[in-house]
Amino acid sequence: MIQKYEKLFINLNDFPCIAQIQHVDKIFIDAWLSRTLIERFEQKSYAVIETLNELNGNWDETFYRFLARNFGFKVNALPFELLAKAVPQQIYGKHKDNVLQIEALVFGSAGFLKDELKDEYPAKLKKEFQFLQQKYNIQAIDVSLWKFLRMRPQNFPTMRLAQFAALIVKANHLFSKVMEISNISELRALFENLPVNDYWKKHYHFRKDAVVVSNQPGKPSVDNILLNTVALFLFAYGKNTGTQFYVSRAIKLLESLPPEENAIADKFTSAGVKIDNAFASQGILQLKKQYCDAKKCLSCGIGIKILRQT
Ligand code: SF4
Repeated sequence: MIQKYEKLFINLNDFPCIAQIQHVDKIFIDAWLSRTLIERFEQKSYAVIETLNELNGNWDETFYRFLARNFGFKVNALPFELLAKAVPQQIYGKHKDNVLQIEALVFGSAGFLKDELKDEYPAKLKKEFQFLQQKYNIQAIDVSLWKFLRMRPQNFPTMRLAQFAALIVKANHLFSKVMEISNISELRALFENLPVNDYWKKHYHFRKDAVVVSNQPGKPSVDNILLNTVALFLFAYGKNTGTQFYVSRAIKLLESLPPEENAIADKFTSAGVKIDNAFASQGILQLKKQYCDAKKCLSCGIGIKILRQT
């Protein structure tokens, strides 16, 4: 058994069973990935529950914080999170009938309205924000925290902020809405066709004009939010409240989303593993991080299967 183990798994490859995994039944791999997926979401839920406790059990506000982080992708997650902390949802709620004020709160708190702004729209935003900032004692965040480098213009933080403001205009208390919707198309529709201000049809930034391809979040961005925020919250809520119904809805949602494309998924695909959906690709990420990288092949269901069938 030791010799078999050494032959199969002791090599310098960061994915030791790369040559054997193709011989394991798909049904068996899928079952193991279900387990690693649940592990991954349980671990990710700790951060949700920590913030939930900080916010005195307010699920809506916790969801809003995570959603904001998610809007920034990896590069601008931090300033988006700081923005959500600077302006809680409750403040937007008081101005829900005034689109300009919501946009002013978003861009002003994000630090983009400090400079001299020549266009009429940002000048109006600036004026609104000066009043709102005093009223709510808002500390605008440092604008230099926003990263634009090596980014496609449609992903510029200014575009993402415009979409974020539009989402707040479209639907307040989003988590309550997410909980009510079980249909995936309706859920997706919540984050699509956002009422983004027309200014963002001709600008990627306040500083200069441009021809904009689209001011709406693309399908991959919406999928990313459904995966990293919506599914995570349904899962965390279901686990935390002992409501299996929401855990099952999270899993169903993951099964209906396309698999993520990344170097890890590519590696497993090249080795012959079929990754059908986001449920499997998330399971793969956990498998790689917690088992393959740690060389825990003897604690991995796939590793044990390979040893037994060799
Ligand atoms: S941990 Fe499992 S999947 Fe990863 S290399 Fe080892 S046997 Fe293969």
